[in-house]
Amino acid sequence: MAPESHPLHFLLVPLLSQSHIIPLTDFGKLLAQRGLTVSIVTTPRNFIRYRAAISLAASTGLQFQIIPLEFPCEEAGLPPGCENMDSLTSMDLAPEFFVACELLEVPLLKLMAELRPRPSCIVSTNALPWTQRVADRFNIPRYIFETISCFTLFCSHVLSSDRTQEMIAAAASASEPFLVPDIPHRIELTKAQLPQAKKKSAGKDIETVIDQIKRARSSSRATLVNSFEEIESGYVEGYAKVARTLWCIGPVSVCNKKPAEKLDRGNKASIDERQCMSWLDSKEAGTVIYACFGSLCRISAAQIKEIGLGLEASGFPFIWIVRDASLNAQAEEWLGEEKNSLEERVGERGLIIRGWAPQVMILSHRSVGGFLTHCGWNSTLEGVSAGVPMITWPMFAEQFYNEKFVVHVLGTGVRVGVEVGSDTGDEKSAFVKWDQVKRSIEELMKGDDEEEREEEEERGSWGKGRERRWKEKGLLTRILRC
Ligand code: UDP
Repeated sequence: MAPESHPLHFLLVPLLSQSHIIPLTDFGKLLAQRGLTVSIVTTPRNFIRYRAAISLAASTGLQFQIIPLEFPCEEAGLPPGCENMDSLTSMDLAPEFFVACELLEVPLLKLMAELRPRPSCIVSTNALPWTQRVADRFNIPRYIFETISCFTLFCSHVLSSDRTQEMIAAAASASEPFLVPDIPHRIELTKAQLPQAKKKSAGKDIETVIDQIKRARSSSRATLVNSFEEIESGYVEGYAKVARTLWCIGPVSVCNKKPAEKLDRGNKASIDERQCMSWLDSKEAGTVIYACFGSLCRISAAQIKEIGLGLEASGFPFIWIVRDASLNAQAEEWLGEEKNSLEERVGERGLIIRGWAPQVMILSHRSVGGFLTHCGWNSTLEGVSAGVPMITWPMFAEQFYNEKFVVHVLGTGVRVGVEVGSDTGDEKSAFVKWDQVKRSIEELMKGDDEEEREEEEERGSWGKGRERRWKEKGLLTRILRC
């Protein structure tokens, strides 16, 4: 039955990146299910990608539409068609990308003037501070939608004070750990793990964008975070004092209940639903490792080989997502083309998906027992929501914060052991060898009780003891109940 129509019209404006569009679309659906009119703004190429998900929601009677605005690639110095951060050929183009986003201000103002019913407010993701000016022009509130955790927000806030900046600057080397002060847990980080701000002479440098984001925060009506209080106790309260008005509205991904909603989320899945489900159904509960590194990571052929060798040597069944941008002839030869390739060696035990996975659908399957993740916040929260423990492999941005959160705050993950971000340029230190991958999978999947592990192996019931051990920590059960 269609919800009662409501005069309020929410205009959602996400940064054009999967990790912003996907959760904001989910949030839009949640609003529309409560009877509100919702419009989400995007660009022509993104319109093609996301319209199926929005049409699916609209077909159930929800007032939910997607509106494309032309994206000024050329004007901003971007190659044509670069309308999403996942299509940037290099992260060095990120400053130009932010310039192009800001050039959407004028077309957005025009759209606002024409839209009926008139938008009652703007909800835009954190990286679009200029949307505050648009809201001010129409005298309506703007709400910030944060795509990172309160843990990260609060730690970054604490670390931005002059006192801690001096402490970080005084650290002898980039790899010397320092303690994050005044937070509920004992968390150590190094300079090499902090998000790197890329500088650029042309266009806008990222530090300027960060400055604008901070200033726009103080003019916004409230901050919405894709998270929930139960897992971030202490950090929600801590950041609420900084943000003044803060609401945790997550995890938004759980609004996807039907298989069709979980399948083509973000992009069209590169695997047929039945093929994926029947492969998962054929595996024992809690035994499959799901390995996926989000929508932006580019992984070298040499690193792909080590990941594959580690998955193979672990002995566990696995689904591994290799995104198009990481695939090249060298990687492809080793994965599937040459004689005795990985696919040939592992056979039915491994499923390699080239392109895009139905992540939420896979994570919610009972056979998945571990998630090898790059620790993007959406992936982290989706893993937590599915009650799946993680092997953490942070690469860049705020992903090291998420690793600390999973391993030291929640206690539902083990580290693969990477110490520096892959964007630090220190390729050697960011490189992970196959035996680290294998060791961390074993640690997660079998726990550390040697005797019990042997018994489990004899009984052929891998995973039961592990599940019990995680539950003893009180974490999975608590998360599953939320
Ligand atoms: N995702 C997906 N299939 C893939 C890769 C990613 O559905 O093959 C989704 C994932 O479920 C998450 C988002 O894309 O919602 C990635 O966001 P995240 O914050 O984890 O990482 P980022 O892509 O920004 O690095």
